[in-house]
Amino acid sequence: MGQIVLICGKNTIGEMKKCYQNQLLNKLPPGGVFAAKTAGCTITAYQSGKVLFQGNDCEKEAGKWQKGGSAETKKSATAKSKSAAKGDVPVGIEQLSVIGSDEVGTGDFFGPITVVAAYVKKENIPLLQELGVRDSKDLNDEKIIEIAKVIKDVVPFSLMTLKNEKYNKVQQKGMSQGKMKALLHNQAIVNVLEKIAPEKPEAILIDQFVQPSTYFQHIKGQKTIARENVYFSTKAEGIHLAVAAASILARYAFIQYIDKLSAAAGFKIPKGAGALVDEAAAKLILQKGRDSLGSFVKLHFANTEKAMALAHKKRR
Ligand code: MG
Repeated sequence: MGQIVLICGKNTIGEMKKCYQNQLLNKLPPGGVFAAKTAGCTITAYQSGKVLFQGNDCEKEAGKWQKGGSAETKKSATAKSKSAAKGDVPVGIEQLSVIGSDEVGTGDFFGPITVVAAYVKKENIPLLQELGVRDSKDLNDEKIIEIAKVIKDVVPFSLMTLKNEKYNKVQQKGMSQGKMKALLHNQAIVNVLEKIAPEKPEAILIDQFVQPSTYFQHIKGQKTIARENVYFSTKAEGIHLAVAAASILARYAFIQYIDKLSAAAGFKIPKGAGALVDEAAAKLILQKGRDSLGSFVKLHFANTEKAMALAHKKRR
């Protein structure tokens, strides 16, 4: 009898419960959210986010939720194909050997942009599923670290980190974040292609952040450009586990970098771009001076002005 474990977010578990509402079991294990039984599979969801699929049909049943079969992802796929984007991915791509790439940190005031491209061979897909690889947005930092530590030795990947100093330098010269991302994605993908050569992936899937034509415009003139078999899709981590693995590894690197910044600052650096980061940056300005900010934050964010004002107020 087979068994598959997925780690799911609350929304997905809610969707699952609705989907199996006519097959729910009355008895729940400790910590259980719901349990259901179909003809070939028993499904048990836990508060921890773990969902256990047991039985002969476990692959089929888990597959509905693993590879973008959820209502949410389907909706986004439809929306995407309606848009002008040429993001049509090959049918059945979820079962191919794919290089996926994704980035983290673009919306965070503190910390770098991290981009990872990762190669997941089709025979590694079940293993990654078992390890709980899925959209990193559904996983907390603890889980990200746990999974990343295992998959970094299983999956060939390349990490590109655009540190704050360099980010601010190129940004001040007028480079858009879109172009920075495109350059980093291309380089990470090229690195992985070199790593796995002479083997070639069956497809390359980029979590889409601009129109494909703009992407290629951005990387024009680069020494090596990965162009063959490159596909774009929004919410690509729901389409192939390679993108999910890439997003987990990118977030792991980002978390580690934030830890380093926290050590340098002497206090815990917050993520995001809300009021907390303004406070933290103001504290840095007061302790280390305005010039220190450039190695901690993305200076062109509006948060810089807010932090300056806060620091000014506090100084008085
Ligand atoms: Mg992304």
